[in-house]
Amino acid sequence: TNTSNDSDKTIIDSTMSEVTLLDREDSVDSQDDEGHMLGRVGSISVALKEWDIPFEELIREDYIGTGRFGKVYKGQWHGDVAIKMLNMDPNTDNAAQLSAFKVEVANLRKTRHENLVLFMGACMKPPHLAIVTSLCRGSSLFTLLHVRKEKFNMSKAIIIAQQVSQGMGYLHAKGIVHKDLKTKNIFFDKDKVVITDFGLFNVTKLCHASRHADRLQIPPGWLCYLSPEIIKALQAGAAYANNDLPFSTMSDVYAFGTVWYELLNGHWPFEDQPAESIIWQVGHGIKPSFGLIRGSKDVKDMLLLCWNYKCEDRPSFGNLLKIMERLPRKPFTRSPSHPIHLLSRSAD
Ligand code: ADP
Ligand code: MG
Repeated sequence: TNTSNDSDKTIIDSTMSEVTLLDREDSVDSQDDEGHMLGRVGSISVALKEWDIPFEELIREDYIGTGRFGKVYKGQWHGDVAIKMLNMDPNTDNAAQLSAFKVEVANLRKTRHENLVLFMGACMKPPHLAIVTSLCRGSSLFTLLHVRKEKFNMSKAIIIAQQVSQGMGYLHAKGIVHKDLKTKNIFFDKDKVVITDFGLFNVTKLCHASRHADRLQIPPGWLCYLSPEIIKALQAGAAYANNDLPFSTMSDVYAFGTVWYELLNGHWPFEDQPAESIIWQVGHGIKPSFGLIRGSKDVKDMLLLCWNYKCEDRPSFGNLLKIMERLPRKPFTRSPSHPIHLLSRSAD
């Protein structure tokens, strides 16, 4: 099942049950699930038809919040959903925004994993571009750790990190780089992790880039998730163009390292430091202080592995899962000489 061209129509059947005819308009190269060249965004449009949700069918309810992407609402579409409205930039070419959006959405439909938010469909008719996903219950790890100041014991921190790694490993196996892994994009409810917002980074850049053409906007709390290679590209000005930052599966692993750090001590690395200082330190391979971090040497070693300066030395999520299986869950019980009150403080 692949592409074949005839005079002015293209026959495609990669992921759909029937052979489909489509027009040759809006051609941009892209790949299908198996990596075959489909040849055009038009093919994506067709494959996306079954994911197209007419905007009129959505019932918007409570406003939840705003992110880089736009406003997020709770809503109804065959049950509770989250509706992510995409702010279209009036100064940018609509057709270009729309094709970038469709390419990203085409990726989302490939994702089926219990630790990933369920992609339900998208509104793809301008000016109403929106992504519809399952509504995450519970709270984000950001809220739990930084707002409610909850402390996770080692066993719980490992369970959460394992589920994040399962979801991320799956994404990478599907050829999707998250690009925005952070505790705000990880929900935790009833002992289950759900990762959101994978692969949408380019859409957000597209929304805002032209409005701030000379500068990439750096939202607070974002820098500490960026790997040295990305920080250096930022410094070099690569971000002025849209998709030039060197995101990779390895930069996702770096971001996971930061999530692991937050799980361990409830703070961000480099917390309260000015952006210039963080950029300088990360760019020079300087790691944040480990002074506050709980846990055994193995726990900190895993952090150092994820935060390796050289991206090729960082482990894959598959390797991280193997490392986590062996991590001691109760760090203080390892040393018999520890006084009893330390044992009870770290007890699961
Ligand atoms: P950010 O990730 O930076 O918080 P978003 O645009 O993703 O920005 O989210 C805006 C708000 O909507 C946040 O409060 C976030 O927790 C919430 N939100 C995003 N996705 C969902 C979802 N699938 N279910 C429930 N709430 C969500
Ligand atoms: Mg988000």
